[in-house]
Amino acid sequence: MYSAGIPTLKMNIKSNLTAVKQTIPNNVRLVAVSKYHPVEAIQEAYDAGQRTFGESKALDMRDKYEALPKDIQWHFIGHLQSNKIKYIVPYVSLIESVDSFKLLNEIEKCAAKNNRIADCLLQLHVAQEETKFGFTFDECRDMLSNGAWQQLTHVNIRGLMTMASNTDNKKQIQSEFHSEKLFFDEIKEKYFNSKEDFNILSEGMSHDYPIAIGEGSNCVRIGTAIFGKP
Ligand SMILES: *Cc1c(COP(=O)(O)O)cnc(C)c1O
Repeated sequence: MYSAGIPTLKMNIKSNLTAVKQTIPNNVRLVAVSKYHPVEAIQEAYDAGQRTFGESKALDMRDKYEALPKDIQWHFIGHLQSNKIKYIVPYVSLIESVDSFKLLNEIEKCAAKNNRIADCLLQLHVAQEETKFGFTFDECRDMLSNGAWQQLTHVNIRGLMTMASNTDNKKQIQSEFHSEKLFFDEIKEKYFNSKEDFNILSEGMSHDYPIAIGEGSNCVRIGTAIFGKP
């Protein structure tokens, strides 16, 4: 069984990154969440070999995209407003935070204009906090069984993204991640015909990623443990 502790913060980004990477199995993708950190900090992580970064504001992401090396894979992880889609669609690698059919439909239009297919994750809302965006399991099932999404040819739904409740209760966090993995398996079979590239389960942040990996996450989004507190 997978078990690893969260490394303590070191002096610099490179050693934090190395320490975090040592705790992450090869099959798990590491998204270094660089939101609120300057271009220099991202460049430091880039120079240490990191290529996938996560941002939560469209304009920040665009500015950083323009300033930094073009082989970076940018993941968008924040709430995306329709009028900001155009700032990320031309180059974004994965939009992890699709929280409504309406947004998916707007991404479709923008991706079509840009003549590309936008990879997306559906964001689930399982955490207890009121403020978090995302589909409940039932809203997600409803959206998928409705079928309208299947007409969208410029978006490709690659999996699910979630955040666990912000609590010290490990059992609760673990049970949330566990039910999300079951849900992932359910909808992959039922609505995606088990297609191979429905294969990303993005779960786990600095304080809970070992639990998430233990429960089947294959994509962790880690900010503070790499960059320190913004
Ligand atoms: C900020 C953020 C993270 C990273 O959180 P840390 O606690 O700094 O690791 C991960 N996912 C989302 C959606 C975020 O907004």
